[in-house]
Amino acid sequence: KPFEVHVQARSLACFQPALTGAEWAALQANAEQARDQLAGHTFWNVNSTARGGGVAELLPRMLAYARGAGVDTRWMVVQGTPAFFRITKRLHHALHGSRGDGSPLGPSERACYDEVLRDNAEELLVLVRPGDVVLLHDPQTAGLAPTLAAAGARVIWRCHIGCDTPDEEVARAWAFLAPGLSAARLAVFSRAAYVPPLLADRSVVIPPSIDIFAVKNQPMAPEVASAILGHTGLVALAPEAPEPVFTRTDGVPARVSRGADIVRLGSAPAPGAPLVVQVSRWDPLKDPVGVLRGFALLLRESPDLRADLVLAGPSVLSVADDPEAAATLENVISVWREQPRFLRQRVHLASLPMVDPEENAAIVNALQRHAAVVVQKSLREGFGLTVTEAMWKARPVVASAVGGLQDQVRHEVDGLLVRDPGDLPAFAACVRRLLEEPVLAARLGTQAHEHVRVHYTAVRHLSDLVALLEQLDS
Ligand code: UDP
Repeated sequence: KPFEVHVQARSLACFQPALTGAEWAALQANAEQARDQLAGHTFWNVNSTARGGGVAELLPRMLAYARGAGVDTRWMVVQGTPAFFRITKRLHHALHGSRGDGSPLGPSERACYDEVLRDNAEELLVLVRPGDVVLLHDPQTAGLAPTLAAAGARVIWRCHIGCDTPDEEVARAWAFLAPGLSAARLAVFSRAAYVPPLLADRSVVIPPSIDIFAVKNQPMAPEVASAILGHTGLVALAPEAPEPVFTRTDGVPARVSRGADIVRLGSAPAPGAPLVVQVSRWDPLKDPVGVLRGFALLLRESPDLRADLVLAGPSVLSVADDPEAAATLENVISVWREQPRFLRQRVHLASLPMVDPEENAAIVNALQRHAAVVVQKSLREGFGLTVTEAMWKARPVVASAVGGLQDQVRHEVDGLLVRDPGDLPAFAACVRRLLEEPVLAARLGTQAHEHVRVHYTAVRHLSDLVALLEQLDS
């Protein structure tokens, strides 16, 4: 059965101080247009997880603003069996052009996928009315489209993943998804290169965004960031550290609890040690092992370089739709154990609890702000929110030149891109440059913040969604 996640409305007024008069007027005009377009109808969003990963990050923030703009919007999460989520994870990899675990996508997988989504669709039909707009997210929900469309809903499918150079793996995934997608009126992709021939006549490109007012991105003094990391044990706690406090979405201050159930390997870095940080789900396509090996290469070449590596990700117990997470983390841990002692002391693996998502967000915020360099060494990436989050915090980033990361980061302008994600020496050289050249690091960070402000905030994203709704009716 799908379940609903309740989202509190949030007024758009918080954006006003950051916008020019004309930009603010345009935002209000967009809100009015959205209310008109959806008058009397609900704007549904359906995905497969309420926690962990970029879509679960993006949805509640965007929906809160849509509600604040007066649009009746609701969020439903489909549920499935472990077999269903193995298939959808396989599809996820395939759309990225990767074979994943190599398991088949044949008739029995199709039967399982269809059956789970048929059950979910039946429940959704109790709620969704003719004329409602339903935005389905990612392969996990694509198969809902025919049932919902047949009941009179206007269905849009949004795909947050993709591959720049489609191969037969990608084609196989599209063939699997095609029957469901035939019922979608429009499809949304994060970059033009991801649009498959099958959807070429009805696709729109809308990159994701971050919410600059979310707990994840809220301003945080450097001492408070250090104190939060100190209290959670991610770095050594400095004497005289201030209270580890952050502000919850409802405006109430909260304290990060000591220990916060973090599972950590490696001793805590000293309070002043520069950190190289990657925050990601435990997914092989995020290449956590590659980050570890690249960092090991760097330290073997320069043992005196002052830097520690933190690889952080959500607790593997928390991500319901990602059956691979535990095995990926296990693998990282075993590679960590193989390293010589001096490296083990400088590489820290942290599994962050998701029980209190806002506390988790505050810890991620603190880590990103505290980082000397933020890396995202993905082998594939639809659009890497973690990079945009770090750039908003004016951090210098090193990212692989794959997928959406190529739009998010302009090489040498607001970060560094590594052309071949498998090239460990090139990755290590970029990290070293940013650690050794503070003037360059600061310049890239300042420009990164500006690039995000212009292109990747909710203001731009909301205006793209309003244009999407307009296209739906044309
Ligand atoms: N994230 C988090 N806690 C964690 C790990 C990740 O909140 O322990 C968030 C991260 O800050 C980002 C999102 O999960 O907002 C991941 O999105 P991204 O687009 O980078 O990757 P995806 O998981 O969608 O592939």
